[in-house]
Amino acid sequence: MFSKKISSIPASFTFEILTAAKKLEAQGKKIYHFSAGEPDFPLDPRIKAAGIKAMDDNFVKYTSVSGIPELKQEIIKKLRRDNQLQYAEEEIIVTAGAKQALFNAILAICNPGDEVIIPQPYWVSYLEQVKLANAVPMIAEMEDFQVKASLIEKKISKKTKAIIINSPCNPTGIVIPKTELEKIAQLAVKHNIIVISDEIYEKIIYEGEHHSIASLGKEIREKTITVNGVSKSNGLTGLRLGYAAATKEIIKLMNIIQNHTTSNASSIVQKMAAAALRISDNKELIDELQQKRDFIQEKLIKMNISFVQPQGAFYFFIKIPSNQKSIEFCQQLLEQEGVACVPGIAFGQEGYFRLSYTCNKDDVSAGLQAIDRFIKRQKTLRRKE
Ligand code: PMP
Repeated sequence: MFSKKISSIPASFTFEILTAAKKLEAQGKKIYHFSAGEPDFPLDPRIKAAGIKAMDDNFVKYTSVSGIPELKQEIIKKLRRDNQLQYAEEEIIVTAGAKQALFNAILAICNPGDEVIIPQPYWVSYLEQVKLANAVPMIAEMEDFQVKASLIEKKISKKTKAIIINSPCNPTGIVIPKTELEKIAQLAVKHNIIVISDEIYEKIIYEGEHHSIASLGKEIREKTITVNGVSKSNGLTGLRLGYAAATKEIIKLMNIIQNHTTSNASSIVQKMAAAALRISDNKELIDELQQKRDFIQEKLIKMNISFVQPQGAFYFFIKIPSNQKSIEFCQQLLEQEGVACVPGIAFGQEGYFRLSYTCNKDDVSAGLQAIDRFIKRQKTLRRKE
């Protein structure tokens, strides 16, 4: 009776784990929250002041669908300063989170049956958004979690409309090197494919350098939709503020979708985001995350647990040291030790789980000990079987 398409989309595993963790917490169990996809950065007083001022100024009416000029100008400056990209106001759209920018982009470019290549493991919403647009996700397996143009190329067909790349990557923290981005750009130009470049973790990078694929040449700039936002870089996930930069023609179509769905992102939040983009000094917070990453890395090596070495973002993608399915592993880890992680299958990758290290250092340390206990207990049980 209801939509078959929507009914076929599974609920988010991250959400399920979070609900189960909250339930256990309400029963008084200590929970180590390693499932969240948001940094615990404090709200910068300058961003807060911009929000308060917006309210004092009664800035609460509709804005232009694509965003206020003040914010678009800050986005243009940011793209020029950090990404060597030149865009005009009509080539920018402000959205309710990067998620909406991605969805607008996919809806704007895809016709039914078009194929969109997604390297694996992937952030799950890419897959579902492509399906919602009646397009076909084409999952490209990677080698050692490195995004390789040669493996993407194998998935290209006459129906390929777009490739989605995400660097640094959720869930692996892998950064795509410039040389590989150049190869992906060549492929896109040669086969007339759009690149959707999700750069939301751009600022959270410890090794390697972030490069925007659109900055690698005039031709690839015309084929790229660059997506970013303030959720991860400034820890403002709840504000729901993202943006995209692309050609006028693409942005115009994205605007049409937004016009008939949500209209503008919150007026007050747009003012706060303009303030956030003026601040580019969150080095201290990134340093703190890096210390946690180094600490975890050292511990995991001592624990003899394999993992993907992350160069950015705030995740570890860890190998499950048995043949257990990732959902079952994460359920047991939560029930037995109170550690909430996300199963790898949520990112299309069995045999792994994702640990997010945005909680405080004491919890990181105690949570890792709990994981160690759990894995050792599992090993002992297996030996007895
Ligand atoms: N892209 C990736 C890879 C993400 O991990 C997330 C958030 N989990 C988003 C996009 C969405 O960001 P936002 O909260 O700004 O919609």
